[in-house]
Amino acid sequence: MDAATAVTATAGAAAAMVWFRKGLRVHDNPALDAARRGAARVYPVFVLDPRYLRPDPAAHSPGSARAGVARVRFLLESLSDLDAGLRRLGSRLLLLRARDDVPDALCAALRDWNIGKLCFEADTEPYALARDKRVTDFAAALGIEVFTPVSHTLFDPAEIIEKNGGRPPLTYQSFLAIAGEPPKPVMAEYSELPLIGDTGEYELLPVPKLEELGYGDISQENISPFRGGETEALKRMRESLQDKEWVSMFEKPKGDPSAFLKPATTVLSPYLKFGCLSSRYFYHCIQEVYRSTKKHTKPPVSLTGQLLWRDFFYTVSFGTLSFDHMKGNKICKQIPWRQNEELFVAWRDGRTGYPWIDAIMIQLRKWGWMHHLARHSVACFLTRGDLFIHWEKGRDVFERLLIDSDWAINNGNWLWLSCSSFFYQYHRIYSPISFGKKYDPNGDYIRHFIPVLKDMPKEYIYEPWTAPLSVQEKARCIVGRDYPKPVDHEAASKECRKRMGEAYASNRLGGNTVNGKTSESSRRKSSDGGQDASDLSKSKQPKRRS
Ligand code: FAD
Repeated sequence: MDAATAVTATAGAAAAMVWFRKGLRVHDNPALDAARRGAARVYPVFVLDPRYLRPDPAAHSPGSARAGVARVRFLLESLSDLDAGLRRLGSRLLLLRARDDVPDALCAALRDWNIGKLCFEADTEPYALARDKRVTDFAAALGIEVFTPVSHTLFDPAEIIEKNGGRPPLTYQSFLAIAGEPPKPVMAEYSELPLIGDTGEYELLPVPKLEELGYGDISQENISPFRGGETEALKRMRESLQDKEWVSMFEKPKGDPSAFLKPATTVLSPYLKFGCLSSRYFYHCIQEVYRSTKKHTKPPVSLTGQLLWRDFFYTVSFGTLSFDHMKGNKICKQIPWRQNEELFVAWRDGRTGYPWIDAIMIQLRKWGWMHHLARHSVACFLTRGDLFIHWEKGRDVFERLLIDSDWAINNGNWLWLSCSSFFYQYHRIYSPISFGKKYDPNGDYIRHFIPVLKDMPKEYIYEPWTAPLSVQEKARCIVGRDYPKPVDHEAASKECRKRMGEAYASNRLGGNTVNGKTSESSRRKSSDGGQDASDLSKSKQPKRRS
């Protein structure tokens, strides 16, 4: 829409709009707080994006081209809960459907409802920046006041970059040295919001049900145990923080990636992704627990350390051109990954023949969430560990299927795991056999996600191809017929190390630098920063109380 042709709205009109995108919450919501102050009417709006929701029959699992059904459902549940939260305050969520473009739909409402002030949470993703610029340009042309606070992250990525001399800090420690303490959450107590104003001819939609969106038969897919929404987020956070010993002794690389009935970490990532939970509020509540205990772990491995990793990747991604690509990305090693569609599809669909890898990929498709070290295992396997396939292809699969899919964090971690950036110890490879076995020798996790292996004796559950035929017959699982044969890990990982060595050498010759140093010197100095566990012995943090 052209701002010049728009009917003019009166600047300073007593109507404000709060535009929800992420930040799907009422607590610690500076945009909502600013919208309600001094406004006679507040329009809380969310625009459904057809490009996000439109079913894609060609996709490899039910959902749209951009999101699998588990995340779409999580979003719809979060919207319903937000609507309920607003209704408790005498307001409601105004759900609009864009015909094809979100900014067009939003700008039309800004004009037609005579909005004087627009408030929305700042977003640093490239797609969001382009979208938001169109809206703010339109608002400026109409004289609408715009307020865009930073509240998705602990810190303002732009501010950190400025303090670091205009470049993002490229190590976690240098990030910490600049960051300091995050601002306190805005926890203003209020019992009501201004009423919504007249919405004229606009069709206001109820939050659709997943089944209404046309994704076909999703009965088999629809089993993710994590429900969306602010209410669930706060409940989950409080339950996690109740166990003070667990919180204060939390050490990320020591958690059990195979724990699925009671995961070893908080599973707050999808709530942080959609902003159902404020990261500042979460941080603040962890600090309260620390104050009540004698000692606690520290970043990078502690629970606050995890939130700081989140902010670290947000900051680097915001300040790095082409962060989500290998080409044109100055902090990314240039590696001649190979093309092999057959192996890639086997990885994506959980058919590599390595039960540990396949169970994780099936958990991803069904639940949209896996433990961090499980993500390490499959990302390493796809890239520098076994298959030598481009990290961007794995990133795309995660981006579509994760319920916590997050542009900055996902790309940052794929860069990390593929030894393309941040972490350069490419000789440290996760074994697709022994790594999982040390946590779950009986293979319960595998049996749960790969039912065809449920009767395989524990001696063979991680390597079913080594089971004698009589054992395979008894377990009703013949390798090569009921379950695939794998690539040879020893040979594949040896080949990967060789290729990585060559790629690093040619990056050095080509003068590709990382953080202003040559690749080689960075490699020598790099450490895993407390994220990695590929060579950890079986040390564990205290189990979570159920
Ligand atoms: P907890 O351990 O309870 O941590 C609390 C919060 O800290 C998390 O919710 C998350 O917001 C943040 N956090 C934890 N670990 C990291 C990390 N390594 N980097 C940045 N932030 C972190 N996380 C996402 O939120 N979205 C993604 O798209 C994503 N993609 C990933 C891809 C790969 C290849 C890998 C290896 C990791 C990825 N992660 C991603 C990071 C991490 O695995 C998840 O954040 C974590 O497993 C979520 O579980 P949790 O909430 O129980 O984490």
